[in-house]
Amino acid sequence: MTALSERIIESRQGYFLFDSFKKYGCIAGFSRGRLNLGFQNNPDLKKNRESFLREVGIKPDELICLKQVHGNKIFLAKKEDKGKGAFDYTTAIADCDGIITREKELPLAVFSADCLSVFMLDVRSNVGAVIHAGWRGSRERIALSVVNILKEKFLSNPEDIICGFGPCIRNCCYGVGEDFQDYFPDCIEERQGKLFLDLIKINSQQLLSAGVLGKNISDSQICTSCRNDEFFSYRKEGQSAGRMMSVIMVK
Ligand SMILES: [Zn+2]
Repeated sequence: MTALSERIIESRQGYFLFDSFKKYGCIAGFSRGRLNLGFQNNPDLKKNRESFLREVGIKPDELICLKQVHGNKIFLAKKEDKGKGAFDYTTAIADCDGIITREKELPLAVFSADCLSVFMLDVRSNVGAVIHAGWRGSRERIALSVVNILKEKFLSNPEDIICGFGPCIRNCCYGVGEDFQDYFPDCIEERQGKLFLDLIKINSQQLLSAGVLGKNISDSQICTSCRNDEFFSYRKEGQSAGRMMSVIMVK
């Protein structure tokens, strides 16, 4: 896996973009700073999304968003879906936590505050995807589902898929109960009598098992709890936590 220390992301005041995706003309990145971009309790939703998306070069009213449910359903976005959920939750795509498209200039987003966002691009067929993977979605193997869809529907060779891990709560901070040992037996670490979950390890294992190459996975290495000054953390802030946006657009 390629790590942050090797400069894998372009860092600006309001966002991070993955260099590996940019190389293929694809915008793939996430918001930075305490700008709430989620649907929940957000009177400034339109203003905040406009400000962030303009900065990264995406037309705000064309964004496609999901009604995320911590599941493993993936939505295949077409041109006619443009703008669904851009500013209005009622028009967002229901019951999905991942979104894929082969259409150019069609921006796709997921929102998170501790959950992991995973970006994917098949550089040969130019199909892009972004998913929201917390522990539930990870247990349902949502990352693996996306690679399988890319293989089956778009005849992708997994060796052509590049991936990026956005910010999430990392195993430095993600304390969990004993039941998690049953769900993720080899992705739990015990320290001073406490258990910690490693979402990165879980999702890396899924991608590698599907044939994605380790060298094609980039990790932002950002822990939302450690870096709560710039990222939202549901575990640290509770119900009132805002949401950051992870967005991808193939060009
Ligand atoms: Zn941490």
